[in-house]
Amino acid sequence: MTACKLCVLPFSLLAFAVAQTPSTKEVASVYPEAHTLYLDLHQNPELSMHETQTAAKLAAQLRSAGYEVTEHVGGTGIVAILRNGSGPTIMLRTELDALPVEEKTGLPYASKVHAKDDSGADVPVMHACGHDLHMAALMGTAEIMARSKNSWHGTLMLIGQPAEETLSGAEAMLRDGLFTRFPKPDVAVALHVGNAQPAGMVAITPGIYNTNADSIRITIYGKGGHGSMPHRTVDPIVIAARTVLALQTIVSREVKPGEMAVVTVGYLHAGTKNNIIPDEAEMGLTVRTYKQDVRKQVLAAIERIVKAEAVAAGAPREPQVEHYEGTNAVYNNPALAERLRAPLEAVLGKNNVVIAPPVNPSEDFSVYVEQGIPGFYFGLGGADPEKFAQAKGAGTMLPSGHSSLFAPDVEPALRTGITAEVAVLRDLLNMSPEELQRLTSPAQSK
Ligand SMILES: [Zn+2]
Ligand SMILES: [Zn+2]
Repeated sequence: MTACKLCVLPFSLLAFAVAQTPSTKEVASVYPEAHTLYLDLHQNPELSMHETQTAAKLAAQLRSAGYEVTEHVGGTGIVAILRNGSGPTIMLRTELDALPVEEKTGLPYASKVHAKDDSGADVPVMHACGHDLHMAALMGTAEIMARSKNSWHGTLMLIGQPAEETLSGAEAMLRDGLFTRFPKPDVAVALHVGNAQPAGMVAITPGIYNTNADSIRITIYGKGGHGSMPHRTVDPIVIAARTVLALQTIVSREVKPGEMAVVTVGYLHAGTKNNIIPDEAEMGLTVRTYKQDVRKQVLAAIERIVKAEAVAAGAPREPQVEHYEGTNAVYNNPALAERLRAPLEAVLGKNNVVIAPPVNPSEDFSVYVEQGIPGFYFGLGGADPEKFAQAKGAGTMLPSGHSSLFAPDVEPALRTGITAEVAVLRDLLNMSPEELQRLTSPAQSK
């Protein structure tokens, strides 16, 4: 009897471990359909909050794969649920939207689509951020997870989020009851393809993944008059010019050296004619930071400097400082990131999983994390490995996301995306409540 136990136990443990790691065969079985979907989505991109056909295609495929699908969540968003007994609820998110960019890749499947934007202007449309690849990966993953319910337990929640590019879709889904009409997940997962790594690789960034972004509009009030009689005016252009220079001292003199902070004055508008001193001047700023305390410090310094420069010049009115747009940095729970590295390394190879520093672009996945849901947002290599090596050798860089030339190496990137997502989801959907709790407790996420 003892002998029998000894031979059965290792075998069952082995079988369990093998079942959790997505096999090449499993990925191959869903790949042709995922690739076809990619080509279709790439040639039919839709702008933010107009992703009706995109959402309908995903909803139909998810329904036929056995998911309970709800459409029109927060506009064009979709939520697909697959219940598989008791266990954790894990969310995987893809974006649905494309960008007003004219594709210049020259690829046989390049987008030729034009559409009306929200102002009514005719604009070219392209999946220049790779959200088409995210959707195709999610569909491949959805199929594998639905066909292998013996390899996991719990609830799988797949969401198609509209309007990531305008940083408004996550909020819209939340306001429409994403976590009240549907289960609130224990962990939220997403990936983003890019040219920072070659296809076949993934990148993990524990802790802060990207920047807080803040958009500020400043109006400086002066007293206009004749250009020949400045003594009877308060010149807002001179105040604005001094303000622009003083703002440069925030990063160089106030923020601790080594902390990430950017203060860019992107425009400065004032005046109409050379011999008229205008009444006011307006400028627009973008502010990027990694840490919340640095963000607070920089925003307060901007306000202080803008107001003080106006006082110094004897301005008749205090300047207006408007914060009109902003999003928080995405935070990757470090313990979770460390834990999920293992299944990724197991399936992709140790050398194909790298730890990467934070990136500058912002993203509204942070909205989910701020609901108290531990997040795992990782990078998916998209560059053609050969072109990547050439560019590296030449000291140049391949076109990044949002470029009209952005062209991921679809086949290896998509296969890796599906493989990585299944590995991560299966690992999470096999955790006990205690294990998940221990990994994602606030003490672990600092
Ligand atoms: Zn983008
Ligand atoms: Zn994107």
